[in-house]
Amino acid sequence: MHFGWTEEQQMWRRTVREFAQKKIAPRSREIDTTGHIPADLIKAMAEMGLLAPTVSEEYGGMGMDVTLATIAAEELGRAEISLALPVMYLVQAAWGKVFDLYARPELKQEILPKVTAGKAFLGIATTEPGGGSDIEGATRCKAEKTADGWLLNGEKMYISGIREELAMGGVHMTLVRTDPTADHRGFSFFAVPLKDNPHVTTTLVEDWGRQGISTGGFNMENLPLPDKHLIGEANRGFYYAMEGFTLARILIGATCVGAAEAGLQMGVDYIKQRVAFGKPLATYQGIHFPAAERFTDIETTRLLTYKAAWMADELYGKGAFKHKEVALYAAMSKLRAPIMAFETLNEVANWLGAMGYTKEYPIEMGIRGVRSYSIGAEGGMNIMRMIIARELIGGEYTSPRQ
Ligand SMILES: Cc1cc2nc3c(=O)[nH]c(=O)nc-3n(C[C@H](O)[C@H](O)[C@H](O)COP(=O)(O)OP(=O)(O)OC[C@H]3O[C@@H](n4cnc5c(N)ncnc54)[C@H](O)[C@@H]3O)c2cc1C
Repeated sequence: MHFGWTEEQQMWRRTVREFAQKKIAPRSREIDTTGHIPADLIKAMAEMGLLAPTVSEEYGGMGMDVTLATIAAEELGRAEISLALPVMYLVQAAWGKVFDLYARPELKQEILPKVTAGKAFLGIATTEPGGGSDIEGATRCKAEKTADGWLLNGEKMYISGIREELAMGGVHMTLVRTDPTADHRGFSFFAVPLKDNPHVTTTLVEDWGRQGISTGGFNMENLPLPDKHLIGEANRGFYYAMEGFTLARILIGATCVGAAEAGLQMGVDYIKQRVAFGKPLATYQGIHFPAAERFTDIETTRLLTYKAAWMADELYGKGAFKHKEVALYAAMSKLRAPIMAFETLNEVANWLGAMGYTKEYPIEMGIRGVRSYSIGAEGGMNIMRMIIARELIGGEYTSPRQ
C-alpha cells in the first residue's frame, strides 16, 4: 500500500494549480454573473491540455489516466467554486473517454480534435422529462433502423451544455431505445449534433447555480443519422452510460474536494484576522470543532475519490478490477462529496457572519454549485445509496423493480 503521489502527479497538480489560480480563480464571479465561460479561458484550457485530456493523443487529447484527470478536477474546483467551469471540464473528460473508447474512428476524427481544441462541445444526454434515475423505466427516446442509418425521435431534458453546443457545435451523446422489447439491454448511444440541425429544437432552463454552463433540453423529430453516429455496439448503450457515470462521479468528487478546501481556507484566513470579544475568532473552540470536522470530511472524501480514480486506472490499465467495483467507490465518493462540500461552505458562511451572506465572498456561489450534485447531476443521492446497497446486500434483495 502506498499513499504518495508520483513525480508526474505532483508536477501536474502544481502546473494546473498555478494556471487555475492565476487565470481562472479571478474570473469566477465574472463566470457566475455573465452566465458563460469566457472564450479566452476555453482557449487557455485547450492550450493547457485541460479539455477532455483523457482522449487519446491520436485525437488531440493527452491520453491522460483517470488519476491525473481527477487531480485536474480538484484543482479546477478549488479555483472556480461556482463549479461551472469544472462541470464543463468533467463532462468532457469523462464522456470524452467513453466516446474515444467506443465511437467509430471516422466519427472520433471528426469530433474529438475539435473538442480538445475548445472548438466543439461534447455533452451527455440520458435524462428525459419523465425522469433521470430510472433510465429503463423513463426513457421514451428511440431510434429505428432505416436503410441507410437511423431515425431518432424523442425529448431529452435537464442536459448540461445545450447553449455551449449551439454556440460551438459538437455533439451530445444521446441514449435512446433501439429495442423496445428489451430491458436495459435495448439502449444505444448516438452522437447527436444540435447546432443548425433542422430536426432538433432546443430549450433552456434557468438554474440557480453554476451559472456559467447552461442546462436545457432538446427534442428530436425524425432526426436521420448515419450509421457512423451509433457509438459502439447497438443495444450496449446502458453499459457505456454506466461507465461514463462512474468516471464523471469520480471527477465530481474531486471538484467538491477542491471547492470545499478552497472555502475552508478562506474561512481559516478570515477567522485569524476577525476579532470578536477582544480575540480573533480563530481562538474559540466553538470554531475549532466544526473546522476540525470539516477538515476531516474533506480528507475522507479525497481518499474515497482517489481510491476510485486509482481503481479506474487499474481497471483500464490491467483489468485488475471489474467495472462494478469501481462504480461502488465512485458512488461512495459521489454520495459523500457534495454533502461534505455543502456543509463545509455553509459552515464557513457562518464564520464570515454578515459578510458570508454577501457576494463579496464566493462562498454563496459554491453553495449553489455543489447543490447541483446532491440534487441530481450525474445521479441523485438515493441512486448512489442504491448502488452501494446493491454491492453490500445483493441485487436480489435491493433491485427497485422486484
Ligand atoms: C444542474 C444539472 C445538470 C444536469 N445535467 C445533465 C446532463 O448533462 N445530462 C443528463 O442526462 N442529465 C443531466 N442532469 C439530470 C440528472 O441526471 C437527473 O437530475 C438525475 O438523474 C435524477 O433524475 P430526475 O431529476 O429526473 O429525478 P427523478 O429520477 O425523478 O428522482 C427524483 C428523486 O427521487 C429519488 N429517487 C428516484 N428513485 C428512487 C428510489 N427507487 N428510491 C428512493 N429514491 C429514489 C432521486 O434520487 C431523486 O432525489 C442534470 C441535472 C442537474 C440538476
